[in-house]
Amino acid sequence: MEELDGNGERGALHFGAVTPALDVLSAALDAYLVEVQAGGLGRVPDADLLAETRAFEVHRRRLAAADTVLISELERRNLPARLTSRSTSTLLQGLLRLSPSEAAHRVATAHATGPRSTLTGQPLLPLAPALAAAQITGTVSAEHTRVILTALNTLPSTTSTENLTAAEQHLTTAAATLRPREVALLGTRIAAHLDPDGTLTTATEHQRRRGFALHPNPDGSYTARGYLTPSCGALLLATLTPRAAPRPAATTTTGDGDNSGGTGSDNSGGWVSGSSVGGSEPDPRSHSQRLHDALQDLAGLAVRRNEHTTSGAPAQVIITMTATQLTTRQGLAATSTGQLLTIPDALNLADETTLHLLTTTETGAILNHHRTKRIATRAQTIALTARDKGCSFPGCDQPPEHCQRHHITPWADGGTTNLDNLTLLCGHHHRQFQPTGWTCHSRNGTPWWIPPPWIDPTQTPQQNHRIQRQ
Ligand SMILES: [Zn+2]
Repeated sequence: MEELDGNGERGALHFGAVTPALDVLSAALDAYLVEVQAGGLGRVPDADLLAETRAFEVHRRRLAAADTVLISELERRNLPARLTSRSTSTLLQGLLRLSPSEAAHRVATAHATGPRSTLTGQPLLPLAPALAAAQITGTVSAEHTRVILTALNTLPSTTSTENLTAAEQHLTTAAATLRPREVALLGTRIAAHLDPDGTLTTATEHQRRRGFALHPNPDGSYTARGYLTPSCGALLLATLTPRAAPRPAATTTTGDGDNSGGTGSDNSGGWVSGSSVGGSEPDPRSHSQRLHDALQDLAGLAVRRNEHTTSGAPAQVIITMTATQLTTRQGLAATSTGQLLTIPDALNLADETTLHLLTTTETGAILNHHRTKRIATRAQTIALTARDKGCSFPGCDQPPEHCQRHHITPWADGGTTNLDNLTLLCGHHHRQFQPTGWTCHSRNGTPWWIPPPWIDPTQTPQQNHRIQRQ
């Protein structure tokens, strides 16, 4: 629909002429759509409607066979490079407005089932001939193709050509009667059959399959997917596991400000459930949530360490928001990679990394460029560590190496990067203090925490006992 409107879009995508055969196909499809949209299916018997649905699906699937030819031809002419695209996938993303994963899937499919030829131009069979044939007959869907190619790619690199061909045929035949998930399970069984005790999964094999990707989701979150070598996985687990230990249950007392004992709460679960005084809640986070938070802490640690190295570019984040958004703290800001995040989240990044903030007019013109001043000197960090001795949240005993620095008056509100406006917070309290209503103030050069009224109606400021004992 969209392509039929909008001349710009049409101009960009249809700057050449299409083959007469495609014109015929378009006309036939037009006629079919007119027929069904006019209610042409309203009177057919149930059995025929089912047959129609199946037959139409076959046509949809057969189109993939044309895709592979088109993509192979683009590559044969070296068009991606000639149009200065980084890859065929990049070219397709721009030309057809595809997501990176969809474009990569189509290219991988074309490589497996597209036409090939020798250097002298002699035609060769496709790499996956059975799958290519099933595309032409419309037996396999794009999803089937995806799981079959994944299954073949996961077979050990030592698999013989004979076994590879047999596996491809077996999976393709199965796809004629099974759903994609069942075909994927069959692929796992074939891999186990070819490699009964996993001995073929050698170090070389791990190296070949290793990979990691963060896919941005439209809502600003990310989906992580990957295959880690045993050593990478072991290192990561060894680093994450201690950081992912459950928090001890809260032992909350009402603070009186001068109390040099443990004051405040160290457990968000207690706050969230409202049992703030004398509450004793186990860590409400699931194992996988704790591993996630540990990964976040680890990334923060790496960013802070990076700031103190002399070589290598420091971690930087570039954020764009309108001047109105900066004032009202409403709406969504964009990173340089196009990810969206809330204005408060974006501004909080200034605590962790060098932040470049571009404010724009509503039409996108740049009004201003701000850059956060990061702690450049080790001396400043050492001074902060000496004063706070770790997380400054009341009752918390996390050591300095597990802490992030926090601007007491937010950087975006004019807070400076001076010692009296900075404090150390563990990852847990950095994430939790705002949602639970705590605020921090600097008094006589040290951080004091004010509990929300529902924890302490008198809102008496509290201070971590380690600071008071200095
Ligand atoms: Zn803490």
